[in-house]
Amino acid sequence: MRTIVLTITMLLLTINLGEGENTMAENGKIRVLVVTGGHGFEREPFLALFKSIEDITFREVEHPKAHDLFKPDAAKQYDVLVLYDMWGNITDEAKANFVSLLKQGKGVVALHHALAGYPAWDEYARIIGGKFRLQKSVEGGVEKPASTFKHGVRFTVKIADPNHPVTKGMKDFEIVDETYGNFDVSPNVKPLLTTDEPTSGKTIGWCHTYGKSRVVYIQLGHDHTAYENPHYRRLVAQAIRYASAK
Ligand SMILES: [Zn+2]
Repeated sequence: MRTIVLTITMLLLTINLGEGENTMAENGKIRVLVVTGGHGFEREPFLALFKSIEDITFREVEHPKAHDLFKPDAAKQYDVLVLYDMWGNITDEAKANFVSLLKQGKGVVALHHALAGYPAWDEYARIIGGKFRLQKSVEGGVEKPASTFKHGVRFTVKIADPNHPVTKGMKDFEIVDETYGNFDVSPNVKPLLTTDEPTSGKTIGWCHTYGKSRVVYIQLGHDHTAYENPHYRRLVAQAIRYASAK
């Protein structure tokens, strides 16, 4: 019975994509899959951010359904994965599908609490280029404290490289958002955004490549005060465009 339901669901999904969003590639728009689940958020203002980006089309998939869309055939229907999820469980099959997508060059833009996803899967931190520790842990014999967070902080975001495609044309800007402290950033990433705000880690936006994929992480994005910030909208739009290029 479960298999039948799943098959019908997948069939409906295919029909839906076939009639609607598959035409996006034809009209030159970037097809985005927005992954959510595992952490609450203000859905309407969040999705309004994506509706405001004219050269993309998107659909949202919520866990536990998201991993089905990491399968090779389903992944043909989008160009960029936007991760706004904070999920824990992942099967070996879904891990392999996810890594395989990145080895082929599927772009990834990870936002905000996606830094805390899959805490038991070490490769995920290597994919994102950083990690928010939900609890203190011992890594390489060194005890590391849990990461921290603070809501509603007004602070200045500094553009580390105004010539990079993700931050091109942008100047330092102010935002009211949740800050994260004490999280890991891989030494191999290219910093794009920094801040001197004391409740925050220094580097709050970066990019790197994993496999053939361009991966961008932007720490900002807790709620509507970020989603509606024009500088944040521009960052997310430019990150999607950058990640979509092979
Ligand atoms: Zn948050």
